[in-house]
Amino acid sequence: MSAPATRQSLPIASDLGKNIDYELFMDCVHCGLCLGSCPTYVETGNENDSPRGRIYLWRAIADGRAPFSPEAEKHMNGCLECMACETACPSGVQYRHVIHSFKNDQARTRGPAPMLGWLQRAMLFGLTPHRGRMGWALFPVKLMQRLGLGWAVRLSGYLMPGFLRRMQEIVPDLAPYHNLPEFLPAIGPKRATVGLLLGCAADAFHPQINLATARVLQHNGCDVHTPRSQACCGALHKHAGLDDDAARLAAGNCDSFAAVPGGLAGLDAIISNAGGCSPVLKDYGHILEGHDAAGPGAVFGGKVRDIHEFLAELGPVKPRHKVSLKATYHDACGLAHAQKIRSAPRQVLAMVDGLSLVPLAENEHCCGAAGSYNITQPEMSAALGQRKSGNIAATGASAALTGNVGCLLQIDRHMRDRSPRVWVGHPVQILDAAYTGEKPFGLNVAIS
Ligand code: SF4
Ligand code: SF4
Repeated sequence: MSAPATRQSLPIASDLGKNIDYELFMDCVHCGLCLGSCPTYVETGNENDSPRGRIYLWRAIADGRAPFSPEAEKHMNGCLECMACETACPSGVQYRHVIHSFKNDQARTRGPAPMLGWLQRAMLFGLTPHRGRMGWALFPVKLMQRLGLGWAVRLSGYLMPGFLRRMQEIVPDLAPYHNLPEFLPAIGPKRATVGLLLGCAADAFHPQINLATARVLQHNGCDVHTPRSQACCGALHKHAGLDDDAARLAAGNCDSFAAVPGGLAGLDAIISNAGGCSPVLKDYGHILEGHDAAGPGAVFGGKVRDIHEFLAELGPVKPRHKVSLKATYHDACGLAHAQKIRSAPRQVLAMVDGLSLVPLAENEHCCGAAGSYNITQPEMSAALGQRKSGNIAATGASAALTGNVGCLLQIDRHMRDRSPRVWVGHPVQILDAAYTGEKPFGLNVAIS
């Protein structure tokens, strides 16, 4: 069987799907045990929107049994890359390789994120991953908010095209920017020397989270190095199939942290507070060198720790302030599924006197943030955001905590519609409040 090549559909006999070990397809025994954990399948009920369906689809395209049609591309692009299917799969299917095979081939043959227009793509790859550019882009919004005209910014969204409105809707109340010094010393007896990753868009949207992370590390006896030359981790590019760009950013970050006093060897850990970034940061060895254990990528990746993971390993210092708050916790996919980090955030939060952590229904169900998913797949992203905000509102908590800024932005955006009294923040902000006695930005909470 063959299909004619058209502008919309690539020919069947192609080199698609040849960038993956074929045995990885065969690991799937089609049992269907992953279906109920897949957010897109749960929403649509369509087998093509499930892990099993996507594996089968991409394998059929790799075999030449199906064309790389717009319909197939739509189902593959609908994947959140949340990796809930890997958690659920009893056969150990490594789904991430299947979806990356698709994304790489899509970028090669159609360009990255082909569902977007040129302006959207320019903003996604030319603006979002650049901390400085994002800061300047958000400056007018911050100014309007400071002048008490945040309502005018929100209203202006109705005059914008759909994708700009969606980007504007996600902008939170912006805290004053804290330009962290390149070195902050340990408070109390020194226990470790660490590097701190700032992220890109995350630092522009929520600089107070990086400040809180640095202070929590200081209070736990860490010297903190924060090189200003560091850049985006490359996750955005990796997930779009742009492996060369991801490798370029990875190499730059290795150089940045190698340049701190004592070099990479002098760092006990490199800390990330972004659950969506740390899986890629930990994979720098593969991204740069294909797992050459002696290469700088592997050395860098081997030192990366999520902030909760690091504190739990170090043995956290008990904070002295009481934070009287009822909160709930959303497991970011990048932490729970990609890194299996579930207990550490709860463990460190349990140290905070006065904090009551209530369970959240579907706590490991993706919120719809998924990197740039709210830009590339706005309808599904909105459906998942609404589902998450409904579950959070049902807990009766005053705060929702999550260890990834992308999730935080998405949940905050939907909580503003659902229940604006709920404050959305990062666990390190609560820890910082418990160490310093200062209220987190935007949270009116009793601290004693
Ligand atoms: S991915 Fe795993 S759980 Fe899902 S159908 Fe295949 S073998 Fe079963
Ligand atoms: S990564 Fe998430 S959205 Fe994609 S198939 Fe797996 S469970 Fe479904």
